[in-house]
Amino acid sequence: MSGCPCGSGSELSGCCGPLLAGEKRAATAEQLMRSRFTAYAVGDVDYVRQTWHPQTCPKHLTLDDSIRWTRLDVVATDRGSLFDTTGTVEFRAFFRQDGQRDVMHEVSEFVRLDRSWVYLSGRHT
Ligand SMILES: [Zn+2]
Repeated sequence: MSGCPCGSGSELSGCCGPLLAGEKRAATAEQLMRSRFTAYAVGDVDYVRQTWHPQTCPKHLTLDDSIRWTRLDVVATDRGSLFDTTGTVEFRAFFRQDGQRDVMHEVSEFVRLDRSWVYLSGRHT
């Protein structure tokens, strides 16, 4: 077994796996962001939808099969802790598409709905 796709250094089963399986909730915005990256990496479109704010989630959400997500670097986080209701995570997501390597740089906004963190929107820089 290789490590969790989010790059935490832990195994998938001890990291994002239980979140994707619905056994655990993300405690922080960063944890949710990491688990969403993992969901993209493993093609778990249901988890991507479940963790997207209902007001901003696209009606027809599909993941692009031609993209292979290879690495995540979390650059910075702001709020998003156990005691917050909003938070931002800045990250770089590395991917390969059509044999080309590329990177997406995004600042994502997260909010806590009830007790669960959800993704609200992202700004590409
Ligand atoms: Zn992980």
